[in-house]
Amino acid sequence: MLNIVLFGPPGSGKGTQAEKLIKKYSLTHISTGDLLRSEVAAQTELGIEAKVIMDKGELVSDKIVIGMIENKLKEHGGGPGFIFDGFPRTVEQARELRNLLTDHGTKVSMVISLQVEREELMKRLVKRGEETGRSDDNAETISNRIDVYERQTIPVTYYYDKTKIHHPVEGIGKIDEIFKRIVDVVEKNK
Ligand code: ADP
Repeated sequence: MLNIVLFGPPGSGKGTQAEKLIKKYSLTHISTGDLLRSEVAAQTELGIEAKVIMDKGELVSDKIVIGMIENKLKEHGGGPGFIFDGFPRTVEQARELRNLLTDHGTKVSMVISLQVEREELMKRLVKRGEETGRSDDNAETISNRIDVYERQTIPVTYYYDKTKIHHPVEGIGKIDEIFKRIVDVVEKNK
C-alpha cells in the first residue's frame, strides 16, 4: 500500500494537493477536518461539541479523531492506499496511527511536509474566509491555529524524523509546480 501523510500548517495547501494526489494514485482521502465539518453540518452530538473547539482554533481530542480514523480504515482497508490530510496533529495521534496501520498489516510510506511561512498562511486563510465564510478562517482564530500547530503539531515532525520518511517540500509557487515537487518525492520513495 501507498500511505501518504500530507503534513503542514493550516493554509499550506494540503487539501488542494491531496485532491491531485488522490486522482494520480487512486488513494482514499482521509481529512479529519472534513470529517469533523460533516459532523458539525449534521449537528451530531460530536459535531456540536467539536464546533466550539474548532472555532477557537484548538485541537479536538485525540480520542475523537483517532476513533474517526479507525472507522475509515475499517471501511476502506483493502484499497491501494490512503492519504492522511490534517492527521496526525499530535505525537499521540502519530503513535496511534502507527498502531492502527500495523494492525492492518501496513505502515506510513512517507510524510510530505509542505513548508509555508506564517505571513503567507495568514494571507491565504483570511482570503479563504472571505470567499467561503468558513467560521474558523478569521484573523484571530487563524493566528491561534498557527500557534497550536507550532506548539502541538511540529513535534510530530521530530517523531517522523527518527524514521527517515519525512520529506519537506517548498509549498510556495504555482499549484502545479508544488504538485510536481510532491510527485518527485513520491516516485523516488514509493
Ligand atoms: P486547517 O489545516 O486549515 O486548520 P483542517 O480542516 O485540517 O484545517 O482543521 C480544522 C480544525 O479541525 C482544526 O483547527 C481542529 O480544531 C480540528 N481538527 C482537524 N484535524 C484534527 C486532528 N487531527 N486533531 C485534532 N483536531 C483536528
